[in-house]
Amino acid sequence: MTKDTPSLVPRTRHILCMSGGKDSTALALYMRDRVQNMEYVFCDTDKELTETYEYLNRVEAFLGKKIVRLNAKAGFDHWLEVFGGYLPSPHMRWCTKMLKLKPFEEYVGEEPVVSYVGIRADEDRVGYISTKPNIKAVFPFKEDGIDFAGVMKILQDSGIGMPPYLKWGRTHSGCYFCFFQRPIEWVRLLETHPDQFEAAQKYEKITDDPGKTFTWVQGMPLSDLRKPETIAAIKRRYEDHEERRKLNRGNKKLVEVLAGMEEEDDGPKACLICQL
Ligand code: SF4
Repeated sequence: MTKDTPSLVPRTRHILCMSGGKDSTALALYMRDRVQNMEYVFCDTDKELTETYEYLNRVEAFLGKKIVRLNAKAGFDHWLEVFGGYLPSPHMRWCTKMLKLKPFEEYVGEEPVVSYVGIRADEDRVGYISTKPNIKAVFPFKEDGIDFAGVMKILQDSGIGMPPYLKWGRTHSGCYFCFFQRPIEWVRLLETHPDQFEAAQKYEKITDDPGKTFTWVQGMPLSDLRKPETIAAIKRRYEDHEERRKLNRGNKKLVEVLAGMEEEDDGPKACLICQL
Protein backbone atom coordinates (compact mmCIF):
# COMPACT_ATOMS: atom_id res chain seq x y z
CA MET A 1 0.00 0.00 0.00
CA THR A 2 1.51 3.39 -1.02
CA LYS A 3 1.05 6.55 1.01
CA ASP A 4 -1.57 7.67 -1.53
CA THR A 5 -3.69 4.52 -1.12
CA PRO A 6 -6.80 5.32 0.94
CA SER A 7 -6.80 3.57 4.31
CA LEU A 8 -9.12 0.57 4.59
CA VAL A 9 -9.20 0.88 8.38
CA PRO A 10 -12.55 2.49 9.32
CA ARG A 11 -12.20 5.73 11.27
CA THR A 12 -13.37 5.81 14.87
CA ARG A 13 -16.08 8.33 15.66
CA HIS A 14 -16.48 9.91 19.08
CA ILE A 15 -20.05 10.56 20.16
CA LEU A 16 -21.50 12.06 23.31
CA CYS A 17 -25.24 11.64 23.78
CA MET A 18 -26.71 14.47 25.85
CA SER A 19 -29.99 14.49 27.75
CA GLY A 20 -30.14 18.05 29.02
CA GLY A 21 -29.29 16.72 32.48
CA LYS A 22 -26.41 17.95 34.61
CA ASP A 23 -24.06 14.98 34.19
CA SER A 24 -24.09 14.64 30.41
CA THR A 25 -23.88 18.43 30.11
CA ALA A 26 -20.89 18.60 32.42
CA LEU A 27 -19.28 15.76 30.47
CA ALA A 28 -19.76 17.65 27.19
CA LEU A 29 -18.07 20.71 28.71
CA TYR A 30 -15.32 18.54 30.18
CA MET A 31 -14.57 16.83 26.88
CA ARG A 32 -14.75 19.98 24.74
CA ASP A 33 -10.99 20.53 24.63
CA ARG A 34 -10.03 16.90 25.07
CA VAL A 35 -11.60 15.33 21.97
CA GLN A 36 -11.55 17.65 19.00
CA ASN A 37 -13.77 15.66 16.69
CA MET A 38 -16.51 14.90 19.22
CA GLU A 39 -20.06 14.65 17.87
CA TYR A 40 -22.70 15.86 20.32
CA VAL A 41 -26.20 14.49 19.90
CA PHE A 42 -29.54 14.93 21.64
CA CYS A 43 -32.44 12.53 21.09
CA ASP A 44 -35.33 14.98 20.99
CA THR A 45 -38.75 13.55 21.85
CA ASP A 46 -40.28 16.88 20.84
CA LYS A 47 -41.85 16.93 24.33
CA GLU A 48 -38.93 17.94 26.49
CA LEU A 49 -39.15 20.59 29.17
CA THR A 50 -39.03 24.14 27.81
CA GLU A 51 -35.95 24.82 29.92
CA THR A 52 -34.10 21.87 28.42
CA TYR A 53 -34.29 23.34 24.91
CA GLU A 54 -33.05 26.72 26.17
CA TYR A 55 -30.30 25.09 28.22
CA LEU A 56 -29.05 23.04 25.28
CA ASN A 57 -28.92 26.17 23.12
CA ARG A 58 -26.65 27.81 25.68
CA VAL A 59 -24.48 24.69 25.93
CA GLU A 60 -24.23 24.56 22.15
CA ALA A 61 -22.96 28.16 22.07
CA PHE A 62 -20.38 27.31 24.73
CA LEU A 63 -19.19 24.22 22.87
CA GLY A 64 -18.97 26.16 19.63
CA LYS A 65 -20.31 23.08 17.91
CA LYS A 66 -23.72 21.95 16.82
CA ILE A 67 -25.61 19.52 19.03
CA VAL A 68 -27.25 17.24 16.47
CA ARG A 69 -30.95 16.84 17.24
CA LEU A 70 -32.19 13.36 16.36
CA ASN A 71 -35.84 12.48 15.68
CA ALA A 72 -36.57 15.67 13.78
CA LYS A 73 -39.32 13.96 11.81
CA ALA A 74 -40.77 11.40 14.20
CA GLY A 75 -41.25 12.58 17.76
CA PHE A 76 -43.48 11.25 20.52
CA ASP A 77 -46.80 11.87 18.74
CA HIS A 78 -45.74 9.83 15.73
CA TRP A 79 -44.83 6.82 17.86
CA LEU A 80 -47.93 7.16 20.03
CA GLU A 81 -49.97 6.69 16.89
CA VAL A 82 -47.87 3.71 15.84
CA PHE A 83 -48.47 2.14 19.28
CA GLY A 84 -52.22 2.55 18.91
CA GLY A 85 -52.57 5.36 21.46
CA TYR A 86 -51.07 3.30 24.30
CA LEU A 87 -49.27 5.71 26.58
CA PRO A 88 -45.85 4.46 27.62
CA SER A 89 -45.37 3.41 31.25
CA PRO A 90 -42.59 1.94 33.40
CA HIS A 91 -43.75 -1.51 32.20
CA MET A 92 -44.19 -0.59 28.52
CA ARG A 93 -41.44 1.85 27.91
CA TRP A 94 -41.63 2.09 24.14
CA CYS A 95 -40.72 5.79 24.31
CA THR A 96 -37.18 5.15 25.53
CA LYS A 97 -36.64 2.51 22.88
CA MET A 98 -38.13 4.38 19.92
CA LEU A 99 -37.16 7.94 20.85
CA LYS A 100 -33.84 7.55 22.60
CA LEU A 101 -32.11 4.21 21.94
CA LYS A 102 -33.00 3.48 18.33
CA PRO A 103 -32.32 6.97 16.94
CA PHE A 104 -28.95 6.93 18.67
CA GLU A 105 -28.02 3.53 17.25
CA GLU A 106 -29.20 4.54 13.80
CA TYR A 107 -27.16 7.71 13.94
CA VAL A 108 -24.12 5.71 15.03
CA GLY A 109 -24.41 3.31 12.08
CA GLU A 110 -21.82 0.60 11.61
CA GLU A 111 -18.52 2.43 11.99
CA PRO A 112 -16.47 1.99 15.17
CA VAL A 113 -17.70 4.46 17.77
CA VAL A 114 -16.55 5.52 21.20
CA SER A 115 -19.62 6.57 23.20
CA TYR A 116 -18.98 8.90 26.15
CA VAL A 117 -21.25 8.31 29.16
CA GLY A 118 -21.59 10.76 32.07
CA ILE A 119 -21.75 8.36 35.02
CA ARG A 120 -19.90 10.00 37.92
CA ALA A 121 -17.15 8.52 40.10
CA ASP A 122 -19.49 8.53 43.12
CA GLU A 123 -22.19 6.46 41.39
CA ASP A 124 -22.54 2.76 40.94
CA ARG A 125 -25.42 2.90 38.48
CA VAL A 126 -25.07 1.69 34.93
CA GLY A 127 -25.83 3.94 31.97
CA TYR A 128 -26.90 3.10 28.49
CA ILE A 129 -24.57 0.52 27.08
CA SER A 130 -25.36 -0.50 23.56
CA THR A 131 -25.16 -4.11 22.59
CA LYS A 132 -24.00 -3.07 19.11
CA PRO A 133 -20.50 -4.49 18.78
CA ASN A 134 -19.14 -1.36 17.07
CA ILE A 135 -19.97 0.87 20.09
CA LYS A 136 -17.49 1.06 22.93
CA ALA A 137 -18.75 2.93 25.99
CA VAL A 138 -16.27 4.95 28.06
CA PHE A 139 -16.82 6.70 31.41
CA PRO A 140 -14.43 9.66 31.71
CA PHE A 141 -15.82 10.89 35.05
CA LYS A 142 -15.32 7.47 36.58
CA GLU A 143 -11.83 7.19 35.12
CA ASP A 144 -10.84 10.69 36.30
CA GLY A 145 -12.49 10.49 39.73
CA ILE A 146 -15.01 13.27 39.06
CA ASP A 147 -17.88 13.13 41.54
CA PHE A 148 -20.96 15.28 42.15
CA ALA A 149 -18.90 18.20 43.52
CA GLY A 150 -16.67 17.93 40.44
CA VAL A 151 -19.68 18.08 38.13
CA MET A 152 -21.02 21.14 39.95
CA LYS A 153 -17.63 22.82 39.62
CA ILE A 154 -17.45 22.14 35.86
CA LEU A 155 -20.93 23.61 35.38
CA GLN A 156 -20.22 26.63 37.57
CA ASP A 157 -16.77 27.39 36.14
CA SER A 158 -18.16 27.36 32.60
CA GLY A 159 -20.93 29.79 33.53
CA ILE A 160 -23.51 27.31 32.23
CA GLY A 161 -24.71 26.31 35.71
CA MET A 162 -27.10 23.57 36.71
CA PRO A 163 -30.12 22.74 34.51
CA PRO A 164 -32.72 25.43 35.24
CA TYR A 165 -35.62 23.02 35.86
CA LEU A 166 -33.93 21.97 39.12
CA LYS A 167 -34.87 25.40 40.48
CA TRP A 168 -38.56 24.60 40.45
CA GLY A 169 -38.09 21.11 41.78
CA ARG A 170 -38.08 18.81 38.79
CA THR A 171 -35.34 16.30 39.48
CA HIS A 172 -34.49 15.07 36.00
CA SER A 173 -34.59 15.99 32.35
CA GLY A 174 -36.78 14.22 29.80
CA CYS A 175 -40.34 14.69 28.62
CA TYR A 176 -42.56 17.09 30.55
CA PHE A 177 -45.09 14.27 30.99
CA CYS A 178 -42.56 11.64 31.99
CA PHE A 179 -44.33 8.90 33.94
CA PHE A 180 -41.28 8.60 36.19
CA GLN A 181 -42.20 11.90 37.83
CA ARG A 182 -43.25 11.78 41.44
CA PRO A 183 -46.65 13.31 42.34
CA ILE A 184 -44.90 16.39 43.80
CA GLU A 185 -43.20 16.97 40.45
CA TRP A 186 -46.56 16.89 38.70
CA VAL A 187 -47.77 19.52 41.15
CA ARG A 188 -44.73 21.64 40.41
CA LEU A 189 -45.25 21.21 36.68
CA LEU A 190 -48.81 22.45 37.11
CA GLU A 191 -47.61 25.46 39.10
CA THR A 192 -44.66 26.28 36.85
CA HIS A 193 -45.79 25.22 33.38
CA PRO A 194 -49.60 24.96 33.45
CA ASP A 195 -49.65 24.77 29.64
CA GLN A 196 -47.46 21.65 29.67
CA PHE A 197 -49.55 20.11 32.44
CA GLU A 198 -52.66 20.75 30.32
CA ALA A 199 -50.95 19.20 27.30
CA ALA A 200 -50.03 16.13 29.38
CA GLN A 201 -53.60 15.82 30.63
CA LYS A 202 -54.93 15.83 27.07
CA TYR A 203 -52.99 12.63 26.33
CA GLU A 204 -54.90 10.72 29.00
CA LYS A 205 -57.93 8.63 28.10
CA ILE A 206 -60.46 7.90 30.81
CA THR A 207 -63.11 5.30 29.96
CA ASP A 208 -65.22 2.75 31.83
CA ASP A 209 -63.03 0.02 30.37
CA PRO A 210 -59.78 -0.25 32.40
CA GLY A 211 -58.13 -1.80 29.34
CA LYS A 212 -58.74 1.38 27.37
CA THR A 213 -57.92 3.84 30.14
CA PHE A 214 -54.50 5.49 29.97
CA THR A 215 -53.18 7.77 32.67
CA TRP A 216 -49.63 8.94 33.36
CA VAL A 217 -49.85 8.19 37.08
CA GLN A 218 -51.24 4.75 37.75
CA GLY A 219 -54.69 4.98 39.26
CA MET A 220 -54.82 8.77 39.34
CA PRO A 221 -55.84 10.83 36.32
CA LEU A 222 -54.28 14.28 36.15
CA SER A 223 -57.79 15.72 36.39
CA ASP A 224 -57.86 14.31 39.96
CA LEU A 225 -54.25 15.09 40.79
CA ARG A 226 -54.79 18.81 40.07
CA LYS A 227 -57.68 19.14 42.55
CA PRO A 228 -56.77 21.46 45.45
CA GLU A 229 -57.35 18.78 48.09
CA THR A 230 -55.12 16.30 46.22
CA ILE A 231 -52.41 18.91 45.79
CA ALA A 232 -52.55 19.72 49.52
CA ALA A 233 -52.24 16.01 50.39
CA ILE A 234 -49.31 15.53 47.98
CA LYS A 235 -47.52 18.54 49.43
CA ARG A 236 -48.09 17.35 52.99
CA ARG A 237 -46.76 13.93 52.17
CA TYR A 238 -43.73 15.42 50.45
CA GLU A 239 -42.98 17.71 53.40
CA ASP A 240 -43.19 14.78 55.83
CA HIS A 241 -40.85 12.84 53.60
CA GLU A 242 -38.41 15.75 53.50
CA GLU A 243 -38.53 16.08 57.29
CA ARG A 244 -37.64 12.43 57.68
CA ARG A 245 -34.89 12.79 55.12
CA LYS A 246 -33.37 15.75 57.00
CA LEU A 247 -33.42 13.79 60.25
CA ASN A 248 -31.72 10.85 58.56
CA ARG A 249 -29.14 13.07 56.95
CA GLY A 250 -27.08 13.00 60.17
CA ASN A 251 -23.54 14.19 59.66
CA LYS A 252 -23.49 13.86 55.91
CA LYS A 253 -22.14 16.89 54.06
CA LEU A 254 -24.71 18.75 51.97
CA VAL A 255 -22.87 17.83 48.78
CA GLU A 256 -23.21 14.13 49.61
CA VAL A 257 -26.93 14.56 50.16
CA LEU A 258 -27.36 16.45 46.90
CA ALA A 259 -25.27 13.89 45.04
CA GLY A 260 -27.72 11.22 46.00
CA MET A 261 -30.84 13.26 45.41
CA GLU A 262 -32.26 11.06 42.70
CA GLU A 263 -31.57 7.91 44.69
CA GLU A 264 -33.33 9.27 47.79
CA ASP A 265 -36.50 9.56 45.87
CA ASP A 266 -38.94 6.86 46.95
CA GLY A 267 -40.70 6.84 43.60
CA PRO A 268 -39.91 4.90 40.46
CA LYS A 269 -36.53 5.48 38.91
CA ALA A 270 -36.15 7.39 35.68
CA CYS A 271 -34.30 5.82 32.82
CA LEU A 272 -30.73 6.98 32.56
CA ILE A 273 -30.59 7.71 28.85
CA CYS A 274 -33.32 10.33 29.36
CA GLN A 275 -31.96 11.92 32.48
CA LEU A 276 -28.18 11.48 32.76
S1 SF4 B 1 -38.35 11.06 29.57
FE1 SF4 B 1 -39.86 9.57 30.30
S2 SF4 B 1 -41.56 9.71 28.82
FE2 SF4 B 1 -39.77 10.69 27.86
S3 SF4 B 1 -38.75 9.07 26.66
FE3 SF4 B 1 -37.80 9.07 28.69
S4 SF4 B 1 -38.94 7.56 29.91
FE4 SF4 B 1 -40.19 8.10 28.11
